[in-house]
Amino acid sequence: MTDFGPEHFIGGRLCIDFCNTADGRETRFADTLVEPADAVRWMTASGHWPDGEVAALDAYLADGSAWPRFHATAHDLREAIYHALTSRMRDGQPAAKALAGLAGHYRAMAGQAALITDAGGQTQLDWSGADAATRLLAPIVMDAVALLGEDNAVRLKQCDGERCGWLFLDTSKAGRRRWCDMATCGNVSKARRHAARKQPAR
Ligand SMILES: [Zn+2]
Repeated sequence: MTDFGPEHFIGGRLCIDFCNTADGRETRFADTLVEPADAVRWMTASGHWPDGEVAALDAYLADGSAWPRFHATAHDLREAIYHALTSRMRDGQPAAKALAGLAGHYRAMAGQAALITDAGGQTQLDWSGADAATRLLAPIVMDAVALLGEDNAVRLKQCDGERCGWLFLDTSKAGRRRWCDMATCGNVSKARRHAARKQPAR
């Protein structure tokens, strides 16, 4: 079980943080969403959902029977977003296969949305009538679709850390951020370079 904390939410966007629930896709894959408690803890730690929504997912996953389907959907969605974002980063546009996968999730969830208008007159999507799984996953899908349509997408980067591969939006002025977190991957890399320099020349 993973204890999610602020260090797991460095992506700058909900959909990116969701991608970062797995490490090392290109090297040694490690998943942190492996049991129902992980999904509930991630949702809580993100701070994105009100307590009632977290409780609804917790109750939905409590007896274990809903988990295999939820896990498969969440996993498939996460990898579709990851591949859409990384192909956008690498090739300037998202891969058609990744977009098709994302569109499938979008279609399945959008049918459960309502539109509500708040006191300020702003209309937004409302998922309160959707099933518990959709209430967690739909905001992530919508965020990914939105991000792919924004200029912000050019700020998308991938951590250089070995076995990391986390994504983030580089909002630094110089645009030279290389690490998910200097305190983790950045320091490991620095320590490794330092050690390599100290090796006697042969
Ligand atoms: Zn990293």
